[in-house]
Amino acid sequence: MIHKETIDKIFDASRIEEVVGDFITLKKRGINLLGLCPFHNEKTPSFTVSPVKGIYKCFGCGKGGNAVNFIMDHELLTYPDALRYLARKYNIEIEEEEQSPEELESQNARESLYIVSAFAQKQFTNDLYHTDEGKAIGLSYFRERGFREDIIEKFQLGYSIDKWRAFTDTALKAGYQLDYLVKAGLTIAGEEKTFDRFSGRVMFPIHNVTGRVIGFGGRTLKTDKKTSKYVNSPETDIYHKSFVLYGLYYAKKGIIAADNCYLVEGYTDVISMHQAGIENVVSSSGTSLTVEQIRLIRRYTQNITILYDGDNAGIKASFRGIDLVLEEGMNVKVLLFPDGEDPDSFSKRVSQEELKTFISENSKDFIAFKTQLLFEEVKHDPIKKATLIKEIVESVAIIPEAIMRSVYIKECSRIMDVDEQVLLSELNKIRRKKVTDTAKPESFAQEPILSSEGIDYSVEKKKEVLFDDCEEQEKEIIYFLLKYSDQKILTDAEDEEGRPTEVEVSVADFIIQDLNNDRIKFDNTLYQRFFDLYTNPELPTENYFIQHVEKEISQLAIDLVSSPHSLSDWERHGIFVITEDQFLKKAVLKTIYALKSKKIQKMLLENHRKIKDCKGDEEIMRLLVERKQLEEGKKLYSSLLGRPIIK
Ligand code: ATP
Ligand code: MN
Repeated sequence: MIHKETIDKIFDASRIEEVVGDFITLKKRGINLLGLCPFHNEKTPSFTVSPVKGIYKCFGCGKGGNAVNFIMDHELLTYPDALRYLARKYNIEIEEEEQSPEELESQNARESLYIVSAFAQKQFTNDLYHTDEGKAIGLSYFRERGFREDIIEKFQLGYSIDKWRAFTDTALKAGYQLDYLVKAGLTIAGEEKTFDRFSGRVMFPIHNVTGRVIGFGGRTLKTDKKTSKYVNSPETDIYHKSFVLYGLYYAKKGIIAADNCYLVEGYTDVISMHQAGIENVVSSSGTSLTVEQIRLIRRYTQNITILYDGDNAGIKASFRGIDLVLEEGMNVKVLLFPDGEDPDSFSKRVSQEELKTFISENSKDFIAFKTQLLFEEVKHDPIKKATLIKEIVESVAIIPEAIMRSVYIKECSRIMDVDEQVLLSELNKIRRKKVTDTAKPESFAQEPILSSEGIDYSVEKKKEVLFDDCEEQEKEIIYFLLKYSDQKILTDAEDEEGRPTEVEVSVADFIIQDLNNDRIKFDNTLYQRFFDLYTNPELPTENYFIQHVEKEISQLAIDLVSSPHSLSDWERHGIFVITEDQFLKKAVLKTIYALKSKKIQKMLLENHRKIKDCKGDEEIMRLLVERKQLEEGKKLYSSLLGRPIIK
């Protein structure tokens, strides 16, 4: 835990424009700064930084936050780690609060896993160079494979002695605990015995982005079919396979410089490409490619080239990879090596120059790739051709950006010789289906709930949805709390002798008291939590919310302050028409009335449902009385809101 005071210090010191400016180029635009959003693919800048408010907001993808949020999202760090990052940047000393025993333990446990993994790497490397077995078997294997000395050293390759528990015993003797060796996946604890996971294998350490060893891949040198060729570390507390790319630590700089990332199948491909002078290369070893891995790459570039083996498995894997990359809005090219060759074997056979030329001449964008691969087979078979076209259009439909979609449709039309309009209508069909499949029921709520006959009960299904319909009004309340909390308005009161008078109260106190009087709770739990934070004796400020630890709270605050309601918005929602500052009290009142009115409508619907289902006479009477009161309340608030009263 980091002290609250230190957190405040960090927030105070952090200039959002400097924090963001370390990663993207910002240009001045009025009082704000503007740049290309790092969180989605865009050609025209819509990423806005407000130095005054200390926040950023992308009007393209909607992402927004404060300086800490930016570092969390951009550098994929946890909240405390993002704070530490900023503290380092601004030379603020962090005094860590005393940690709870659990926190301390879990942090220590993870740290211990890092430590034993680092030890294992050193031990395996030592065994490779300094034991007879390691030299004779491991080192000579690497040399035969054609790995250069500097490359073996750079990737910290090693060898694990071929005995039951040579490594485990060495580690125990050096003082490491068995528990951590097991948790790090280095030692396997069987029912009776414990033994080394990797014995007799050459070792490829796997690093995280900062270069710490988090796991291993081990390749056997035995040819017998029973042992699997590669064994990998299991999932551990420090090695989450789907979030790790082999080689990324060594590739980061190269990816940025080339603005492209090559994706290959395994350890040996990554290493051989490095040896051939191509350093922007990673692999998803141990798992098939995941979305998280693609997002890791997106931190450095928008462009991925998939380099796979030209066999069937390789082609299949590349198809799946293509769609995953497209879905993330990134650009994808594909290159298949000749059947039976992978980047490792191919790069050994040709010169560095030839390899580079081969890659640049044969990388194809995915439409050209899919068509060329499959078109020969299908071009005389109209049904198969139609299926292929559909498949390609399905891939295009995944692309989030419209311009990119249209470029690909044009290309597809040209290569496949199909009318563009036909492809477009197919594309739209698929996208529409996607939209309706994922549409949320809230969309019903957009429809008017009052018909000329009063409340419209006609559609049974709609009703359920409408019960949750106070959120817009609730959000307006939160907006006023946040924006005007400490501004004063006059409200009616009584003096000591009971004569009517007026007193000044803050907007926040006014709202809180009024809602509490009527015991109004928010339907939206996030808004309720937000509201509850106002019960502090000291009124929380806008910054308090913007800098709140809970991401949801700070996000809501940032959304509210960064998208000021325009007057037309208010008008459209029929809430009020007024200039906010001018008639603050009126505006606050209208917002409260609008919420109450909506709540009453909701209760009326509920009341109606109960009456319909009700069996007992007494209960009906009670419900009818309630209904009458609610109808009266509805009338009252409608007139207060200046709306025509229906019924
Ligand atoms: P060979 O010398 O027979 O070509 P190799 O070590 O190059 O063997 P391949 O079978 O060619 O291995 O596989 C290429 C890459 O795929 C390897 O570098 C490895 O990273 C990865 N790979 C293969 N099998 C596995 C596996 N079971 N688990 C993890 N990675 C694997
Ligand atoms: Mn191979």
